[in-house]
Amino acid sequence: MGRPIPLFTVLGVQTTITRLGLVSFGVAGLGLAGLAGAWSGLPLGAALLAGALGALSMFVSEWLHQMGHAVAARRTGYPMHAMHFRSILAVSEYPAEEPELPAALHIRRALGGFWVNLLIGLFLAPYAFFAGFGGGGAAWAVGFATFYNLVVLGLGALVPIDLPGTLTTDGATLLRYWGKDAGGQGQGGG
Ligand SMILES: [Zn+2]
Repeated sequence: MGRPIPLFTVLGVQTTITRLGLVSFGVAGLGLAGLAGAWSGLPLGAALLAGALGALSMFVSEWLHQMGHAVAARRTGYPMHAMHFRSILAVSEYPAEEPELPAALHIRRALGGFWVNLLIGLFLAPYAFFAGFGGGGAAWAVGFATFYNLVVLGLGALVPIDLPGTLTTDGATLLRYWGKDAGGQGQGGG
C-alpha cells in the first residue's frame, strides 16, 4: 500500500517505511498505551509515554534485527540492500540478480538477526526486573522492550511460520535450507 518513504541509509542498507507501516506503529503505540493504562494502571500521561516509547522500541529493535541480517549477509559476500517497513516488521531486500546461493549461505544470513534481540533482551532484563512494570511510563516501556526482544524478535523469529507474501520467519527460512547443503549443490560426487 503506497510508495515506500525512504528514511535513511546505514552501512549500505536503505531503510524505508510505507504509510501502512507508519499507521501500524501508531496503532501499536496506542494499543500499548491502552495496555499500560488499563492493565498496569498507569495514569494517562505515563500510559501515553509508555505507548510512544514502546512503539519506538519496536521500530529500533526490528531495525537492529534486520541490521544483524545485513552484517551477516555482507560477510557472506551477498549483501542486503534495503529493509522495508510495511507493518511493524520489516522485509529485507536482496539484489534481484543474485545467483542461486548455497543453502549454508542462506542459513548464515537467516541466523544473523535473532541473537541481536536476545542480547538486547538480556541486557534490558535486569533493569526491567528491578524497575518493574509499575514504575512509570519509561520503565513500563523498558519492560515491554525486554519482552518484545526476547520473546517476539528473538525466540519468536525462530518459530517457523511461512505465509507467502505476508510473513516468512527466519525459522521458516532455516527449516527450508537446513541440511540441504551436505556435499555441495547436490551435483556430482556420485
Ligand atoms: Zn530475521
